[in-house]
Amino acid sequence: MFSYRHAFHAANHADVLKHITLLATLRHLQQKEAGITLIDTHAGAGLYRLDGDYSQKGAEAQDGLFKLLEAAASQDELPESVQDYLDQVAHFNPNGEARVYPGSPVLMAQLLRYEARDRLKLFELHPTDIDSLTGNMAQLELGRAVQVTREDGFAALPKLLPPPASASGSKRAMVLMDPSYEIKSDYAKVSNVIADCLKRFPTGTYLVWYPIIPRPEAHELPRRLRTLSNQAKRSWVHATLAIGRGEEGDTGLSASGMFIINPPYTLAEQLREALKVVGPALARGNGKGWQVEAGGA
Ligand code: SAM
Repeated sequence: MFSYRHAFHAANHADVLKHITLLATLRHLQQKEAGITLIDTHAGAGLYRLDGDYSQKGAEAQDGLFKLLEAAASQDELPESVQDYLDQVAHFNPNGEARVYPGSPVLMAQLLRYEARDRLKLFELHPTDIDSLTGNMAQLELGRAVQVTREDGFAALPKLLPPPASASGSKRAMVLMDPSYEIKSDYAKVSNVIADCLKRFPTGTYLVWYPIIPRPEAHELPRRLRTLSNQAKRSWVHATLAIGRGEEGDTGLSASGMFIINPPYTLAEQLREALKVVGPALARGNGKGWQVEAGGA
């Protein structure tokens, strides 16, 4: 437990896929005025230095954000969701060079709407990351709209659902579940908690990130999520991005997926447009490509 530190991986290909999906989903949900409860069950530290010791070691941002920035520089126009993602990153890097990277809690905090009374609830267990997260969120000065808790996000989530009604009476929630999968049991926990949440609050939007690795539990997870969504008669989108193997001996993660339950109806097409640019930009060798499937309901 606790050997995982997201700082080693910040801005890698998985973050690019995850954060483009997260922003595109939230932007769409915010087209309606009613407030939303946003929940990040595995929040991490919130902000990461891309020139610090941690990221240098993995240098994973090189095969993620930095390659995308390089490709973007030679394109006249980018798909809206990719441009939005790069704009959000640029916001933290006013001098041009990408040195600071906003994680999911900070990306969501940036989009919080004061007048709609959106709320952000963050969970993190790592003793160091919870302190960084608390400090980083305090700097954003969002007051009571943001709550940071050192608690197991898997256990905390069901208790928050259904969310409180917004001023207009509707109950709305978007959940990001992004565990480190350090322990094998995380895979089963994800599907069990999602099954429980779909009973408590079937209309919530749930975004689950998972690694694509040669492990039966990792293969099984998206299948299980698809079955749960179909059984609950919910629509879903499943997007994967594989950048291909690195140099000989590189054992780092080369592919991951996002499974979204109750996605915006525009999401599958938006992700296809985004991955048409992101996939080739990040591909190593021949890459392995990307895929976006949609179904249910
Ligand atoms: N969501 C973040 C982002 O996109 O910027 C990255 C999160 S990172 C992949 C996973 C985090 O979950 C780690 O910081 C880890 O310490 C934390 N963690 C692990 N088990 C947890 C649990 N049961 N509840 C809450 N946080 C946990």
